[in-house]
Amino acid sequence: MTGMKKILLIGTGGTIASEVTDGGLAPELTTEQLLAHIPAISQICRVECIQLLNLDSTNMTPGHWLLLARCIRDRYDGYDGFVVTHGTDTMAYTAAALSYLIQGGPKPIVLTGAQKPIGFDSTDSKINLADAFRCASEDLPGVSIVFNNRVILGTRAKKTRSKSFQAFSSINYPDLGVLRDGVLLRYIRQEHGPAPVFYDALDTRVALLKLVPGMGREVADFLLERNDALIIESFGVGGLPEQGGFYGCLRDAMAAGKIIVLTTQVENEGSDVGIYHVGHALKHDLRVLEAYDMTTEAVVAKLMWILGQTRKRGRVEQLFYTPVAMDILWPAGYGREG
Ligand code: ASP
Repeated sequence: MTGMKKILLIGTGGTIASEVTDGGLAPELTTEQLLAHIPAISQICRVECIQLLNLDSTNMTPGHWLLLARCIRDRYDGYDGFVVTHGTDTMAYTAAALSYLIQGGPKPIVLTGAQKPIGFDSTDSKINLADAFRCASEDLPGVSIVFNNRVILGTRAKKTRSKSFQAFSSINYPDLGVLRDGVLLRYIRQEHGPAPVFYDALDTRVALLKLVPGMGREVADFLLERNDALIIESFGVGGLPEQGGFYGCLRDAMAAGKIIVLTTQVENEGSDVGIYHVGHALKHDLRVLEAYDMTTEAVVAKLMWILGQTRKRGRVEQLFYTPVAMDILWPAGYGREG
């Protein structure tokens, strides 16, 4: 049919493609089998399929993110949009990673999945998949997650419910749009260039440490010996315990060229490390980086993307605070005094 958009469906697994096995739910269905569940798609767009992976997303790695980015790069000119079916558990990481690996493109790259397999009577798979195709056929540039009628920017998504159909939230940023009875109502439109810039390297030596009260420097030392960057999810707007030797640990690590980023365990509103005494010296003397309003998923992926290009501290800092796909809105905080 002429006039219809041509969309590539890339299957990677997840609950949406899962079936009941003796060992629990496992991804078994192919992309063609998924499509067979929603014949009405043929009235929305033309679909071609690739079965790139068939994994529970718990088993996804940064190597798979690169594979996915290359799959889209190699076929970018041949399609109007892309739908990636993916497990929900690590979908927010993949969405963030794709946002850094494929920047500024005009075409939609839509991730979706489900909390219940497509073969179950009560499933969110069909509506999510149909909505994803509708969005991939629209003027919706860049990477997004379409789930439970909502469109969430790829750098802002977080899985915030483990069972309900409304699995994802947009953190510190509004939804891009909403689907009502299959019609996309778009609130925000991403800016884009004429063609995306593709990247093809990630440094996976990035570790994440969640602070608990009373923790000392030992775990941080361990992680810093084995990684190039350490993200510390601290408390509230950010800070580290004044006992336990953290300050010395971080000073030594930074002298050895490691990158330290402070973020917060609090889901909304982000960090502001300089505010309290427990953070002030980290920010102003050590000059650790901080996440501000970025999600932890985006910080992990962004650091892997940055360290895949450079180890120069000044350049790392500059790239970290430069917004990519609206991942950070508080660069005004960068270098702020006080
Ligand atoms: N464990 C599944 C996965 O992430 C969960 C899901 O898809 O909802 O692959």
